[in-house]
Amino acid sequence: MTSENNDNIGLIIVAAGSGKRAGGEIPKQYQNLAGIPVLKHTLNALLPYFPSKNIRVVINEDHREHYEAISSGLNLPEPVSGGATRQESVFNGLSAFETAALNETNLPDYVLIHDAARPFVNKEIIAGITERLHKGAKGVIPAIQIVDTLKYAEDGIINHTVPRDNLYKVQTPQGFVFKELLEAHKNEVNFEHTDDAAVMEANNWQMMLSKGHENNFKITTSDDFKKAEHMIMNRLSDIRVGSGFDVHRFEAGDTVTLCGIDIPFSQKLMGHSDADVGMHALTDAILSAIAAGDIGTHFPPSDEKWKGAPSETFLRHASNLVTERGGMISHAGITLICEAPKIGPHKDAMRARIADILNIDIDRVSVQATTTEKLGFTGRGEGIAAQASATVRLP
Ligand code: MG
Repeated sequence: MTSENNDNIGLIIVAAGSGKRAGGEIPKQYQNLAGIPVLKHTLNALLPYFPSKNIRVVINEDHREHYEAISSGLNLPEPVSGGATRQESVFNGLSAFETAALNETNLPDYVLIHDAARPFVNKEIIAGITERLHKGAKGVIPAIQIVDTLKYAEDGIINHTVPRDNLYKVQTPQGFVFKELLEAHKNEVNFEHTDDAAVMEANNWQMMLSKGHENNFKITTSDDFKKAEHMIMNRLSDIRVGSGFDVHRFEAGDTVTLCGIDIPFSQKLMGHSDADVGMHALTDAILSAIAAGDIGTHFPPSDEKWKGAPSETFLRHASNLVTERGGMISHAGITLICEAPKIGPHKDAMRARIADILNIDIDRVSVQATTTEKLGFTGRGEGIAAQASATVRLP
């Protein structure tokens, strides 16, 4: 299955919830999971199977900034503003397709609705749904049969045992014939349903089950985050360590830029770009870990284009190469070697800056400083050296 196969299928990703049961300041879909926001994991899992023009992500406008950061470079259509309830958010997503369509023939034939907080959706689950839709089903819902014994209880006291024979827990994505789902949503505007299958059921459409997967769980609690992180780490079992080294000499000036932080000083560092020796060493360390050449391979000093370029451009590029390979940077360590300026007061700002560029937690970034006891070129104050290491995990 490729994205071409699904050219007539729309995909709505519902990311408008304010889900804070997992803890944290921002909704769970924007929180980092193994260094990458949950929603980004979910997009990465789905993008290979759907043309990006067919995707609508429904967001809460309050979180647009988080969304823009995640979706930059993915070439997705404008996100859709969510509603007060999940149902309303899906309806807004469906309406966005309707608005975009010049006439009915441009509407997708089918639509899949997926929760942003289910990053482990896979090809088999999607195929199980789309195959049944193509065979004429009006709606297909991935489900798992309940195997645990079920009890009905009130105030901690069991009232009775519930027969579990025909009971299923359902997941997303849920797939539907587009027109029928849109119609059903219009009819149910004044009634609340917890999933789209229920909206269709209320309109007497027959819904069909397909095979769900235990891994396709919805991240809700902080325990779910731990479980999800464990699953991702298990998958990223190819662990690489890369190293990098760089030197820049001083020249007349008044500021040095180290690890993205401007420090007032009696000189500046001479170099082709902003001469951020720390970021250069780290960029090389990341490129080394994935054996992708060095900073000069990607940004030749002979190319005028990079003259004065901020070094974060280089670091972001190296980080993107890791992401493109489905990997993560699990640690970045930089040692700055100089007599002056003093690094200590700026260390945490440097760590925060690097963590921000790499989109990883700050506790995965270390900045250290040392002198060479007045020995050698750094000891004589002729320049600054930096060495770095990066640990990268690849699938
Ligand atoms: Mg350099």
